[in-house]
Amino acid sequence: MSTSEKDMQNYDHYISQLFAVEDDLLRATRATMAQEGLPSINISASEGQLLHLLALMSGARRILEIGALGGYSAIWLARALPADGKLITLELDEHHAAVARRNLNAAGLGAKVEVRVGPALATLTAMQQAGEALFDLIFIDADKEGYVDYLQKAVTLVREGGLILADNTLPDAVLNEKGDSGAKRYNAAVAAHPALASSIAPVLRQEGIDGLTISLKHTPEGARASA
Ligand code: SAH
Ligand code: MG
Repeated sequence: MSTSEKDMQNYDHYISQLFAVEDDLLRATRATMAQEGLPSINISASEGQLLHLLALMSGARRILEIGALGGYSAIWLARALPADGKLITLELDEHHAAVARRNLNAAGLGAKVEVRVGPALATLTAMQQAGEALFDLIFIDADKEGYVDYLQKAVTLVREGGLILADNTLPDAVLNEKGDSGAKRYNAAVAAHPALASSIAPVLRQEGIDGLTISLKHTPEGARASA
């Protein structure tokens, strides 16, 4: 049995019309991204709702995102924050960062969200060196070649009991034993990491199936329980 692209869209539509209906601000964010020539490689609304729920479930007060693009996923995440919560999103491209700031301001999230421009690995290293307060949730969604390095940084920047999430982690390369990709190396590194309990939630895209890798950083008790 094979599922057609049309079925994928219909399954995704079923989820999003029940649980992830976009409001005017999310629609305007995508429209601004298109006007400004940004690629439409943002998460879907249904995945946005999944991230939103994970942030609520983990009681997140501080969120770190790697890869802002136009701020679409940051809006879904930041809307789960309490009034005094904070989201920092890292972005390499100045133009993407400017569009993200504009969209976040328009969504009324300007005070909660900070966009930091630069190569993420350098920004993460600077955060470690500056003794940045730990995060409750870290969402990795930038260049796939950087994922394994971002994971090493994320493990040190997330609190015990916090979540590390990574997008686009079921590429076609996983179907081929010899296939190589940054996401596949990321999943292998996650699976081998003694401080993480993880799995991959498949997510629907227009082009087919993709994945969100979900990792919980063990509390010492949790680590003993699963040992
Ligand atoms: N999270 C966004 C999509 C991000 S797309 C959403 O779903 O709405 C990936 C983004 O990562 C792009 O904007 C790209 O410019 C950025 N990026 C690529 N390499 C990067 C790097 N080395 N450091 C920081 N950002 C990077
Ligand atoms: Mg993505």
